[in-house]
Amino acid sequence: MRRPRGPPATATRGSACSLARVIDRPVRVRFAPSPTGYFHVGGAKTSLYNWIFARQSNGVFVLRIEDTDAERNKPEWIEGIQSAMQWLVSGLDSPAWDEGPYFQSHNAPKHLEAAATLFAAGRAYYCDCTRDDVKERTGSEHAGYDGHCRTRGLEAAPGHALRFRTPDEGVTVVVDVIRGNPEFPNGHLEDFIILRGNGSPMFLLANVVDDIDMGITHVVRAEEHLSNTPKAQLLWEALDGGPLPVFAHVPLLVNEKRQKLSKRRDPVALEMYRDQGFLPEAMRNFLMLLGWSPAGDDEIVPWSRVMADFRLEDVNSSPAYFDVQKLTAINGEYIRALPVEEFIERCAPWVPDEWRTSEVFTAMAPLVQERVKRLDEVPEMIDFLFRDDVPFDEQSWNKAMKAPADAILDGVIDAYETCAWDAASLKLAAEAVGERHGLKPSKAQAPVRVAVTGRTVGPPLYDSVAVLGRERTLARLRAARARLA
Ligand code: GLU
Ligand code: ZN
Repeated sequence: MRRPRGPPATATRGSACSLARVIDRPVRVRFAPSPTGYFHVGGAKTSLYNWIFARQSNGVFVLRIEDTDAERNKPEWIEGIQSAMQWLVSGLDSPAWDEGPYFQSHNAPKHLEAAATLFAAGRAYYCDCTRDDVKERTGSEHAGYDGHCRTRGLEAAPGHALRFRTPDEGVTVVVDVIRGNPEFPNGHLEDFIILRGNGSPMFLLANVVDDIDMGITHVVRAEEHLSNTPKAQLLWEALDGGPLPVFAHVPLLVNEKRQKLSKRRDPVALEMYRDQGFLPEAMRNFLMLLGWSPAGDDEIVPWSRVMADFRLEDVNSSPAYFDVQKLTAINGEYIRALPVEEFIERCAPWVPDEWRTSEVFTAMAPLVQERVKRLDEVPEMIDFLFRDDVPFDEQSWNKAMKAPADAILDGVIDAYETCAWDAASLKLAAEAVGERHGLKPSKAQAPVRVAVTGRTVGPPLYDSVAVLGRERTLARLRAARARLA
């Protein structure tokens, strides 16, 4: 990657050459999800960025599960993250991650040790102030901690939180290849808590200690962590963590109203898209083009091109619109591009095996493949070929069975008793009946389609009828005619 230039990472400590050292070491990146729910599409994008960057730089991609919030973590979410990550890169020739999963909770002794080191070195102090105490002194809920206990010399005790003492002067510069190295005046950073009153480590401490411990060189993560990054860097340096990592804070995903995608409001679970029959290669393509694009306007970008051209520093820093319609259209294109045998194979999770491996499906597959945008649409496109009892969709029925539907059905039954049984002849015969009743070809089709398939939408009708066979087709046409009468 391009070597980012900029001021020394932390001006107060003058570590001018730390950045070069970071870049000159073998790249180690990590994805560090908290297992508190389904795998968010934003997380999926961040994990892809890490994966690609590791591959491009011959680095190592570590998976670390940040499972310290015992109340919100569940084993099934941990399992879900891993299977979703594997799905997302399936078909590619590298594993979903190289090392791990490591578990943050297993590193708790190191987190405590780091806190003790900071206290012993005078970089952190104990504090017994309550929120109300601070509010009373500062006169505001939002003023932040006022440093009251800096010089009180409190010892560790139940109810005493440990605070990191931030410098009063200087600025902390975050070297961020997406954000353009933002600067944070140290005077604005409050003395933040690193151990709670009950002695448990705060997220930020655990996060930094783990990154140091794992030799992380580049931190590619969600934008929401940017405001805490100056604190993380100060901790990193106070712990003698070695060269600071280079950061890339990945922009938010938003919905059509430009609102941050939310679990409750928006469809954000990668697992849901997988289960609906989005192809991993389509999802990858779509995710990569949120906030980045290779030269040209193409929306379908071969993965080899992504691997060759993607640069973290070219990622746009503004929020990206997660457009489900666009994703769906891209997915349809990927489905159409599959060799038909592979399309049939990929349908396996959605289409019962005895249907999928039949000659009927082999005959219909190329036609179905042209028409679906998600693989979960396949069964309802073809079920009429396999079921004996095709239920009529009432809405379709009402739409299609208006006069002169009865006459059309009578005429088509008549013609289909004797006509040649191939798609072209079946089409001609039905259209001739329509014409006799003053209907355009597309209008004549509707009652026949609903009679045979139960619905107004589906694969090309006359090809379907050809596959269905004369006897079954006539039985359905007659049944519909009787229902109409
Ligand atoms: N566990 C954090 C999260 O899921 C990620 C922190 C990080 O990447 O540094 O938001
Ligand atoms: Zn205090």
